[in-house]
Amino acid sequence: MKYYILFGPPGAGKGTQAKLMVDKYNFRHVSTGDLLRSEIAKETELGKKAKALIEAGNLVDDSTVVKMIESEIDNNPSVKGFLFDGFPRTTAQAEQLDKMLEKRGNKIEKVISFIIDDKKVFERIKHRAEIENRKDDAEPATIQNRINTYHCKTEPLIGYYKKCDKYFEINGDGEIDEIFARVIKLL
Ligand code: ADP
Repeated sequence: MKYYILFGPPGAGKGTQAKLMVDKYNFRHVSTGDLLRSEIAKETELGKKAKALIEAGNLVDDSTVVKMIESEIDNNPSVKGFLFDGFPRTTAQAEQLDKMLEKRGNKIEKVISFIIDDKKVFERIKHRAEIENRKDDAEPATIQNRINTYHCKTEPLIGYYKKCDKYFEINGDGEIDEIFARVIKLL
């Protein structure tokens, strides 16, 4: 079982690349954002708690997302591997993920980090707002809050994964196929 992390700011193209990787490698794509949005749509207790946080562009608490990831791993024993998208987003999440995998005799293979500047991210999310109708994509202030949250809380993970030689960067700017070719080369 292989575990990969797709890393980068909101709007970096992690979800788009994950779909292409699933088609080619038969991995399971696990997006904590998608899982949370599905809880919101189903109006579960978890979804009700997460809704306001997500719509304001703030992070959902670590224990909630860690539990979601753990059940994804345990409920899919026969897949070739996992692509985590949007997880981990804090150092606490990364530490808990390591423990979770260690308990199961596994580890993270690689962290694939999509490099793209804030201005491009902002433009991409504004464009996505016209297509996907996500509340957290609609307001410039919310988009900016998510970008700031990424810099403060998620970016420190770069150091965390560099320390164990698992961190790999690719240029996240360009055409989708062009970026996918970079991903394939790295894998
Ligand atoms: P994007 O990549 O555009 O930020 P996501 O779908 O990954 O979109 O995340 C949407 C929102 O869901 C985040 O802004 C956050 O509120 C919540 N979320 C997703 N993943 C996590 C996580 N690992 N930890 C905490 N909150 C999360």
